[in-house]
Amino acid sequence: MNYYIKNATLVNEGQAFVANVFVSDGKISKIVAEGEPFDCGSATVIDATGKYLIPGIIDEHVHFREPGLTHKADLYTESRAAVAGGVTSFMDMPNTLPKTTTQELLEQKLALAAEKSLANYSFYLGATNDNLAEVVKTDPHRVCGVKLFMGSSTGNMLVDKNEVLVRLFRESPCLIAAHCEDEQTIHQNTVRCKDLAAKGEVIADASIHPFVRTMEACYKSSSKAVDMAEKFGARLHVMHISTKKELSLFRKDIPLVDKKITAETCPHYLWFADHDYETKSFAIKCNPAIKASWDREALRQALREGLIDTIGTDHAPHLLEEKMTDDYFTSKSGFPSIQHSLQVMLECGVELPLLVQLMCHNPATLYRIDRRGFIREGYYADLAIIDMDHPVVISNATELSKCGWTPYDGMTVRAQVTHTFVNGNLVYEKGNFHEEFRGERLFFS
Ligand SMILES: [Zn+2]
Repeated sequence: MNYYIKNATLVNEGQAFVANVFVSDGKISKIVAEGEPFDCGSATVIDATGKYLIPGIIDEHVHFREPGLTHKADLYTESRAAVAGGVTSFMDMPNTLPKTTTQELLEQKLALAAEKSLANYSFYLGATNDNLAEVVKTDPHRVCGVKLFMGSSTGNMLVDKNEVLVRLFRESPCLIAAHCEDEQTIHQNTVRCKDLAAKGEVIADASIHPFVRTMEACYKSSSKAVDMAEKFGARLHVMHISTKKELSLFRKDIPLVDKKITAETCPHYLWFADHDYETKSFAIKCNPAIKASWDREALRQALREGLIDTIGTDHAPHLLEEKMTDDYFTSKSGFPSIQHSLQVMLECGVELPLLVQLMCHNPATLYRIDRRGFIREGYYADLAIIDMDHPVVISNATELSKCGWTPYDGMTVRAQVTHTFVNGNLVYEKGNFHEEFRGERLFFS
């Protein structure tokens, strides 16, 4: 099926201009200037007058929970939520059951995705204290990266042996995506909070989360990762930056293609701040913790300055009953977000050209993804059409993630994704899915 997207305002590579786009054989075949005659043959015409056409979002950080945790989420349900949010490619994390710590398990995940995913996909290999032999076998042209938990999070893949860290930073054949929170600091804070809660001196509600998973825990771990990457010349991407202090570790004076040490943040660190624990409670408990409003303001500023390179969602579904326990210490960290990431980013005051840079172009450049992330002739037709003036209230009732709820419930957003193309296939159209299509594996140059 071929498509001719007419009169859209293309937002691409820092420019916004009205044009028509001819999609054939899965690719962007021709960008036709406004008013220029063009014979699109029997292509299906989509009138996008007044709407915006962007490259499909590339979400470099998701937890789709398959295999093993599919009561929360799976590759089919979450990829469906993804395309409804304008996301056409995702990179999934290894803390599933079993953990993705061998090349064989990685290939098994890829096979599952080929069967079930509506969006394009890649999977990280998880690093552990004892799988270095598997890490060095990773083919950087076929796998997005290695995930390193420098400090524990969900799934306990903590790498804490220094000699292993040294070898990993020295020998990893591909990008190291790091979760940085210092385990020892968190442990000490947890013990102290439990003690104070037992004495009745502290109420262990959601608001203590940034006092357990503190700014110091983040900085201690991320500064160590940056030091090691500098020392051993590794390609390091520090995931989900949540504090102002960590911004000092990154640089804005190097073009992204040449940067070896880069940073990601997530929509929830840009939208929520510590006062939101009062109303949202454990719904917004995540790791690292959502911190103070001055951290949020600094992160927003860092996007504009180029200190932070990409936005990933850290989409991490849990059932609401796994979160809304009456006990801080057992409530799960993480929540779904992929369906609404574009809408939330716009509400954070990020204009569409910057959003496209952070969520489409930069992930493609940073991971060196083959022919995606830009509206260019010859590239894969991964595209989303956005109606910027169609206010809607986000609600649990319309959440597509399998867990069936969203921390953004009740939030009014002004934009809507109306169409999503994956490899030239119209997989999402105004609330309806064309589910006969499957995404493809991502490749890297
Ligand atoms: Zn994550």
